Amino acid sequence: MKIGLFFGSFNPVHVGHLIIANYMATQTDLDRVWLVVSPHNPLKPKKTLARDHDRLHLVRLGIGDNPRLKASDVEFQLPKPSYTIDTLLFLKEKHPEHQFVLIMGGDSLASLHLWKNYEQILAGYDIYVYRRPNIELGPLAEHPRVRIFEPPPLDISATYVRDCLKAGKSVRYLVPDAVWEYLESGKMYR
Ligand code: ATP
Repeated sequence: MKIGLFFGSFNPVHVGHLIIANYMATQTDLDRVWLVVSPHNPLKPKKTLARDHDRLHLVRLGIGDNPRLKASDVEFQLPKPSYTIDTLLFLKEKHPEHQFVLIMGGDSLASLHLWKNYEQILAGYDIYVYRRPNIELGPLAEHPRVRIFEPPPLDISATYVRDCLKAGKSVRYLVPDAVWEYLESGKMYR
């Protein structure tokens, strides 16, 4: 299968993430999209980052029974901090039956040249880029491995969702219903 990997901290997952994931899984030649939950990066003290397994659980709740999407915890078992190239190589070895493609926003493409071994990433993997409003893609948009897509833009961020929760405001419809119910009943991000 051709699988798109969508990396994020998903802190928490919101409908912006899921719209991108579902768009890529249904409106491109990808068969599946895996939402890869990135673990705590020990080099970056992040007070507001929820525990790995809680974020993974929320992604699973958000995906629900969508057979084209999957939550992946592959980076939990890899050395930290996790670099995308290392995760890609690990997955290639673990799943030789699949072809992996990287999914990223135009903002990430614009700074891809700063990533560890970005040339190796571009040599070995197709990159499906979703355009984001007011973001210049930069010279790598012309790279033969890069394909640009235009899903409907949605200006929601996990930061905004966390801020609402902290202020005791409703996040209904910003996150899938199952995620909303879980967040309402628990203490995450309060
Ligand atoms: P935070 O606000 O905590 O930085 P985030 O909502 O940007 O979080 P991440 O988990 O870092 O979420 O996102 C994973 C990827 O999804 C990132 O590359 C990010 O740019 C992208 N992304 C997040 N929100 C949206 C959105 N509304 N539309 C398109 N892409 C998004």
